[in-house]
Amino acid sequence: MSLSRRQFVITGGGAAAVSAAGAAYLFSRPSLLQSPGVSRAEAVISSDKLPDKVDVAVIGGGIMGVLSAMMLQEKGYDVVLLEKGQIAAEQTSRAFGWISSLGDGPARLGLSAPSGEFWRRINAKLSIDTTYRQSGLLYECKDDTAVARWEQWAREHSEYGGTAVKILKGEALAHYLPGGASRSWHAAVIQPLDGSVEPSAAVPRIANLLSKNGLKIVQQCAVRGIETSAGAVSGVATERGTVNCQAAVIAGGAWTRLFMQNLGVDLPLLRIYSFMLRIPDFNGSPLASGSGAGTPWRKEASGGFSIGIPNVLAPLLPDNFRFARQFASAVVANWGHVSLQPNRELFDDFMIKKHGRTMRRPCLKNIGF
Ligand SMILES: Cc1cc2nc3c(=O)[nH]c(=O)nc-3n(C[C@H](O)[C@H](O)[C@H](O)COP(=O)(O)OP(=O)(O)OC[C@H]3O[C@@H](n4cnc5c(N)ncnc54)[C@H](O)[C@@H]3O)c2cc1C
Repeated sequence: MSLSRRQFVITGGGAAAVSAAGAAYLFSRPSLLQSPGVSRAEAVISSDKLPDKVDVAVIGGGIMGVLSAMMLQEKGYDVVLLEKGQIAAEQTSRAFGWISSLGDGPARLGLSAPSGEFWRRINAKLSIDTTYRQSGLLYECKDDTAVARWEQWAREHSEYGGTAVKILKGEALAHYLPGGASRSWHAAVIQPLDGSVEPSAAVPRIANLLSKNGLKIVQQCAVRGIETSAGAVSGVATERGTVNCQAAVIAGGAWTRLFMQNLGVDLPLLRIYSFMLRIPDFNGSPLASGSGAGTPWRKEASGGFSIGIPNVLAPLLPDNFRFARQFASAVVANWGHVSLQPNRELFDDFMIKKHGRTMRRPCLKNIGF
């Protein structure tokens, strides 16, 4: 079939218009305009020198890596903490900051309740102000059915702090919501044992203390792979050279899937972006952290508030389809709150080399803080 000049120009023009519209669509989406973020995480003192040999190498300096390193060091192991960027600069400093177990199901409670206990003691244990506060966490109860559900939860989970849970009504509720919001609330449930931290400060402060106490921390040092000898871990290969070790802890956050793929392990992990607001303190502001009318909040140490936005954004990626079965129940539970967005990450995903060389790219974007 041959095209006339006129048809060729019309077809070509149409294709160009579709491409331009597609490109405009993709590149005008908010997540594409966000440049790699400047982290609000407090700075951590670290070393430029890579040790030749340690007992354990911890890969990734978020909350998981820093606390794993702390606990390993407490057990007497010689540890190096290797971070491809800055300590706590990814999810850890951008979290909401609740340390809570209220309402958790059995799968999470076994972790969240002891974790709450750990945090309640942390300032005294480390003799620093990590910013942890036992601020309490309250949730709105819209009717008596909701109240009955929480009372049942508290009874069933008495060994996980259920005995401390209280139902608040009238004056007791107004004490926590002095601005008058409580007048439109039926009731609330509160877990006074729950608390919160300032995400940008807590982990960097702990890391700085560990560094002063001899933990080897190396920042700007991506780990590219694990080396083995006779089937056992013998070292980690970093962009600055190899560290010999007998064990490695992989705490790479959102990058863990990519890292594990290099080791031949298919870890099901999907990316989502979540957004938050910060507002200054106001007259009659709540005394505890909590959630009402579908909006979560956290009182910040500065007096202001972090406000959560329940909707999240999921970039359209092949993994969404690959892991559809594993994540189906999470999608159903959050139906209406997840927007699937085609954007440049689809192209990045195809382009990204499946080995550590690309791992220094910041993962999370600036969300306006
Ligand atoms: C918006 C938001 C709100 C949240 N709110 C809460 C909350 O209220 N309460 C709560 O408990 N949790 C919350 N979370 C979850 C919590 O933030 C995460 O579970 C936690 O921060 C994960 O910590 P991590 O150490 O596993 O990962 P990260 O903090 O992502 O740390 C991983 C680190 O590993 C490094 N890394 C990766 N690959 C390599 C490599 N190859 N070599 C060297 N370094 C590497 C990265 O640079 C990064 O610094 C929230 C998360 C988000 C995004």
